[in-house]
Amino acid sequence: MKLRIAIQKSGRLYEDSVQLLKECGIDLRNVKDRLKTESDNFPLEIFFLRDDDIPQYVEDGVADIGIVGENVLYEKNKKAVIVEKLGFGKCRLSVAIPRSQQYEGVQSLQGKRIATSYPYLVNEFLAKNNIQAEIHEISGSVEIAPGIGLADVVADLVSSGSTLLMNGLKEVETLLQSQAVLIRNNDLNAEQQKLVDKLVFRIRSVKKAKHNKYILLNAPNDKVQEIIALLPGMKSPTVLPLAEQGWSSVHSVLSEDTFWDIIEQLKAAGAQGILVVPIEKMII
Ligand code: ATP
Ligand code: MG
Repeated sequence: MKLRIAIQKSGRLYEDSVQLLKECGIDLRNVKDRLKTESDNFPLEIFFLRDDDIPQYVEDGVADIGIVGENVLYEKNKKAVIVEKLGFGKCRLSVAIPRSQQYEGVQSLQGKRIATSYPYLVNEFLAKNNIQAEIHEISGSVEIAPGIGLADVVADLVSSGSTLLMNGLKEVETLLQSQAVLIRNNDLNAEQQKLVDKLVFRIRSVKKAKHNKYILLNAPNDKVQEIIALLPGMKSPTVLPLAEQGWSSVHSVLSEDTFWDIIEQLKAAGAQGILVVPIEKMII
């Protein structure tokens, strides 16, 4: 039996999705311009689809799992379980209005024409806020709608905000924060679930490794205690004697969040020759 995964065929999620599978040690054959492929070293079949179609395929069980943006998943409102947030494809669904216009809260959207590719989510937002507005569904280049008189405001995906800026728009409301997620069909059998668990275990090891760095440093023996106190490490740091008398080498793992702070403190405490090495996998 093979697990079937649906990923985006081309577009913003494609590279990161393929990369993630590769980092999980899954070899993919000939991914370019194919509709589907399989792995030689993991029981996985990969379907390449438009991202809009992925929630439906997973709900129907044509694919067992899929990688898709939360924005698309919620917009399609299909039955699927989020297994893991993947940390890429980050963006938000926002309402933006022409920069010259005043904004005094959601009531400013009353009676407006809103261009969007996300009618379901926008409708939900409007209903929640008791706003009557006209939704104009368009499938691409939503940001030009106000400029050509098609709509008064837009609800679109934003990451840096530069597209809005270029089109003379400003962001006034955020409807949703989104990133790519791994989803699964609602009722997988035990064998399929086991394969999903296996894949998720690998994904977590890869994510964890990206978030951490391996560090090696040298220190005079009389500073080692102070240095160890600064290091969190998985258990406790490794301390090895150097060939040079009176010196030790200390090895540990640091999380990206605290990384620079701790490096500074280590230097101040007398650490020398600090090496920082990326970690490929982290199994905990
Ligand atoms: P498809 O042909 O598969 O339908 P698409 O044109 O609908 O592709 P892309 O533009 O490739 O979709 O975006 C795919 C996903 O990438 C989005 O649904 C969203 O989750 C994520 N994403 C991240 N940042 C952005 C951004 N700035 N603009 C649009 N999407 C983004
Ligand atoms: Mg799409």
